[in-house]
Amino acid sequence: MNTPVAVPPAAARPNVDAGELARFSALAHHWWDPDSVFGTLHQLNPLRLAWIEAATGGLAGKRVVDVGCGGGILSEAMAGRGAAVLGIDLADKPLGVARLHKLESGAVVDYRLVAAEALAAEAPGQFDVVTCMEMLEHVPDPASTIAACAALVKPGGTVVLSTINRNPKSYLLAVVGAEYVLGLLPRGTHDYAKFVRPAEVSAWARRCGLAVAALEGFAYNPLARTFRLSADISVNYLVALHRPHDG
Ligand code: SAH
Repeated sequence: MNTPVAVPPAAARPNVDAGELARFSALAHHWWDPDSVFGTLHQLNPLRLAWIEAATGGLAGKRVVDVGCGGGILSEAMAGRGAAVLGIDLADKPLGVARLHKLESGAVVDYRLVAAEALAAEAPGQFDVVTCMEMLEHVPDPASTIAACAALVKPGGTVVLSTINRNPKSYLLAVVGAEYVLGLLPRGTHDYAKFVRPAEVSAWARRCGLAVAALEGFAYNPLARTFRLSADISVNYLVALHRPHDG
């Protein structure tokens, strides 16, 4: 007689790719070097900070969780605008760098090694703002991450996500261009199959009761090596999702 094999439901399996965490841990000591592989995050930071402030009506006095915070570039910047920030990540080395860096900078940020899904079960509806930047394209189940963000945010609060679109142009620019031609990122940083289309983000967000409030792209100028906000969402983009008030 065949014994049925118990397959755990998707939600019981951790939503994490160990290879991805190892990649970020191996590079973690470079995190705050703007001339390193993390230079792109440093360059994007003022733009995305301003965008988050606009999408949330200002960060001062808000309780924020930064999901997949890495070495804390955005977490520290949001704390600098007066938010009470908790940065979470599942890679220990980037978190170690984040904890060391705040000692140097004097930033007031808490960091924890915890999955978004686990924190959502522990502290549902506790945050005015949830940010999850440049992480969705590194997880096995981005819909689960979005559901966790939806559970973490208070009614009336905002979730801000950024990731990379999936189409031939994003493959050419974000993989071939960034990793092979310009060498902005190490080869293998991004897996095209894991890129996420804005329509997918919207559908997953709607399923958890979030409404799309804003969607905007980042355009990269390879000659000047600078980014600017753009209506073109075909490669890198930001989404603000709003959780309606109850009732
Ligand atoms: N959000 C930061 C860092 C982006 S790099 C910023 O934009 O500045 C991607 C980060 O996601 C890394 O720190 C990596 O460790 C983290 N990460 C990848 N998979 C994760 C997962 N399943 N859960 C939590 N963090 C994850």
